[in-house]
Amino acid sequence: MIFDIHAHLMGPELPGRAFWDGFTRLAAVQTGRTEERIRRRLHDIYDLTGEKLIQDMDEAGVDKVMIMPIDWGLVRAFQESPGATMDIWEQHVLHAEVAGKYPDRMVTFACIDPRRPNAVELLQRAVSELGMVGLKIHPAAGFFPNDPVVYPMYKKALDLGLPVMVHTGPEPKPLYSRHCQPVYLDDVAADFPDLTIIMAHAGLSAWWQEAAGIASVCANVYLDISGWQAPARLRPLEFYTNLRSLVSTVGAGRILWGSDYPALRLLMSESAWAKAITDPPQVAADHGISFTEEEIAAIMGGNAARLLGL
Ligand SMILES: [Zn+2]
Repeated sequence: MIFDIHAHLMGPELPGRAFWDGFTRLAAVQTGRTEERIRRRLHDIYDLTGEKLIQDMDEAGVDKVMIMPIDWGLVRAFQESPGATMDIWEQHVLHAEVAGKYPDRMVTFACIDPRRPNAVELLQRAVSELGMVGLKIHPAAGFFPNDPVVYPMYKKALDLGLPVMVHTGPEPKPLYSRHCQPVYLDDVAADFPDLTIIMAHAGLSAWWQEAAGIASVCANVYLDISGWQAPARLRPLEFYTNLRSLVSTVGAGRILWGSDYPALRLLMSESAWAKAITDPPQVAADHGISFTEEEIAAIMGGNAARLLGL
């Protein structure tokens, strides 16, 4: 079974115009293309109905996906463009409705900024009214994941038996990166040893070694490798070397494949990204890097299915 543990529905106002402005600007600088050209391509990846996602999953042989909203509504730049960000509860309803159309293919996590005064109540409602099966928190909105303000959310997730995914790795502007270092999750793992914690993106290229180091001493920490399409596409030898090292340090049983769909689709299709793990290119073998069938099966979906009890 292939399980994409990290995906979103996105549109011009979801997760917010401020995100797409920053994303476009950065992509233009990195690729040397004009912002206008990148904006045109964004229209190809916007998908608020899940139809493109399902089509891409079918093409890639992906059985299941976890989709979730993103709560950046408290970030100043997002608040300064009023009307350009979908209300957080509306985002949850949208994700639940789309997942409801594909009950065998999609599950949903909630995503709520813990600084919202009604954060715990929203999480409870997301589970009981919308059937969500996990929580994502996004420190790039400007809080540290080990801040006491987040603890009631961890407590609630533990009470409800939900895994908690936490974004790690630098983010484009206007988001904040310093809150997203993996090391802060060490406190959370120590204070909530029974909570299942998923470090989203495993720290990305900037902090993957820190992520591996923390996970190696925290049995309740998992790592998702969504976002690693960038090195896989642009610097394949580095990607396979680092992935092999991650798997050897943490163990294949705690690594989860995901795509961060749809933004990274501009760089690599869902099927190419799945194939990058299930069928590594010659460059990996040439450097003595390989993965066993058991490791691949665990990373591609076995772990996610076990974690979510599916
Ligand atoms: Zn994401």
